[in-house]
Amino acid sequence: MRTVFFDVDTQIDFLFPAGALYVPGAERILAAVAGLNQYAARHSIPVVSTVDAHAEDDAEFRDWPAHCVAGTAGQRKPQETLIEPRVVIPNAPGDYSIDQARQIVIEKQALDCFTNPNLRGLLERLAADRYVVYGLVTEFCVRCAALGLLGTGRRVELVTDAVQGLRQEEAQRTCEEFTAAGGLLTRLAQVCA
Ligand SMILES: [Zn+2]
Repeated sequence: MRTVFFDVDTQIDFLFPAGALYVPGAERILAAVAGLNQYAARHSIPVVSTVDAHAEDDAEFRDWPAHCVAGTAGQRKPQETLIEPRVVIPNAPGDYSIDQARQIVIEKQALDCFTNPNLRGLLERLAADRYVVYGLVTEFCVRCAALGLLGTGRRVELVTDAVQGLRQEEAQRTCEEFTAAGGLLTRLAQVCA
């Protein structure tokens, strides 16, 4: 089975208390996310890492405090979540080579990673049978990624001890919605067994 890991928005502004849009408790999943990404690197599993890369006046900032503005420190991913070689795919149509990349960073300016016009083509090229999804925030960007991936008809697993929600009840509802749509819940220890 060809597996692709899907690391959603594990960026400094979300992960740490000093970040611009800190998700309380998020720093607790950092070791798990780093462990999953490093496991993938060791096993030649491609990692797709979605990241917010906002302009200063993005529409999203009407609903959320400004965060992950492109070029700021808060927009970066922590070092331990990075894999070499890595390619960054901007949120603009283009022809991007992923041939050498073990980590493919998908930039976006909205909650849903599928707003990057290159993502669907990229997924076709990766030709995964199975996606393993983790990161931030469970009921927002993780939800968009997980349901969008389910929509491609492949097996999708959500790593419940490597995600963090903003509100426990809504995060729980997202897990129920995801499993009702055919998604599977898993744990870090199972994925990396
Ligand atoms: Zn955002």
